[in-house]
Amino acid sequence: MSRVLVIGCGGVASVAIRKCCQVSEVFTELCIASRTKSKCDALAESLKDKTDTVVTTAQVNADKVDEVVALINSYKPDLVMNIALPYQDLTIMDACLICGVNYMDTANYEPEDTDDPEWRAIYEKRCKEKGFSAYFDYSWQWAYKEKFEQAGLTALLGCGFDPGVTQAYCAYAKKHEFDEIDTIDILDCNGGDHGYAFATNFNPEVNLREVSAPGSYIENGKWVEIPAMSIKREYDFDKVGQKDMYLLHHEELESLAVNIPEVKRIRFFMTFGQSYLTHMKCLENVGMLSTTPVMFEGREIVPIKFLKALLPDPASLGPRTHGKTNIGCIFTGKKDGKDKTYYIYNVCDHQECYKEVESQAISYTTGVPAMCGALMLLTGKWTDKGVHTVEEFDPDPFLDALDKYGLPRSENFDPVLVE
Ligand code: NDP
Repeated sequence: MSRVLVIGCGGVASVAIRKCCQVSEVFTELCIASRTKSKCDALAESLKDKTDTVVTTAQVNADKVDEVVALINSYKPDLVMNIALPYQDLTIMDACLICGVNYMDTANYEPEDTDDPEWRAIYEKRCKEKGFSAYFDYSWQWAYKEKFEQAGLTALLGCGFDPGVTQAYCAYAKKHEFDEIDTIDILDCNGGDHGYAFATNFNPEVNLREVSAPGSYIENGKWVEIPAMSIKREYDFDKVGQKDMYLLHHEELESLAVNIPEVKRIRFFMTFGQSYLTHMKCLENVGMLSTTPVMFEGREIVPIKFLKALLPDPASLGPRTHGKTNIGCIFTGKKDGKDKTYYIYNVCDHQECYKEVESQAISYTTGVPAMCGALMLLTGKWTDKGVHTVEEFDPDPFLDALDKYGLPRSENFDPVLVE
């Protein structure tokens, strides 16, 4: 029996909410709150008579701590699931601390305004000290560790697929398959085709910021940064086939380097088609990916926000996306004194997801782990207080829940390694 407040009602939140409503014995009451209440009402209406979960809705601007505090105080949830945007992570964490409620999200904090001089000074210092230049990093949320510990609360960070399930795969490999892990390669393959020349599978602003940034990986405890898309590999993915993939910076590299410190190299690769890359480069070259406001016909516009308005809504891609995703981790290391390799991954079919929850697989592979993470917190499987990423918890009940609720694991004990 629990009450959950979900903030956000976009592509990922819609899947997470639909999945929570399939587990009504745990998610007995759920409030969907977002900036645009009409979207929450439409989703609640579509769930009517299909679930025993009691669903209500609310309007909230989660950029404002006092609005989130007022909502939490009136709804009194056991858990707040932040599935809005990374820009709201800190305000929602602040509100959870004020109200004494557990917190979780699917992406780590980054500021909406990267020109803010106060933020920029801290960011530039971090770039020099750490050696990677992505706008997002864990330092902002890790700074809340003591406060959450002292309040006896849990904050679960980044509980989507990547970050999220990929870290549970790492914890699982460490617990069951290896005495010592030497290398981790995280491979994120989307073999889906939506038929558009260019569209993003989740929030365009967050997605394009991420993939147009320099790539980076960790080697012997240090970050190595490379120009965007400058390391390319080909890989033959199970159930998808041969794809080009590119090395990217990704948030779980940072926490895995802290939590599995013996690993000598951690890399993250994502597949992209040529059409996506050509469009992205062109948009970048003409300044459309910029977050800095420009004056246009007497009013200020932010180029990447204008671009977002032109691109298809990721939530609308469901009916037209065909094909599969394959996301997982390849490990090398030692077990009982012998060299060992191991690959654990999930294959997910876009059309199967659409049939089940009216969404494509990218939102599905993020929304299902968000529901399963909430399930771990609400059923007392994950109880550590403080601020934690997924690999810090027991992976077994979480992977069992993923197997059960739509993202079953596959294993390969002799995988082809990435050179
Ligand atoms: P969408 O843009 O589809 O949805 C975002 C939702 O948040 C919208 O409902 C939006 O409201 C709401 N929102 C935005 N700002 C505010 C605000 N100030 N107050 C209240 N609500 C607000 O995003 P996605 O569903 O694609 O992504 C959701 C999250 O999931 C993102 O953080 C993304 O980075 C993360 N993600 C994580 C992945 C992983 O594997 N870990 C993979 C993919 C995504 P409105 O409708 O008014 O715009």
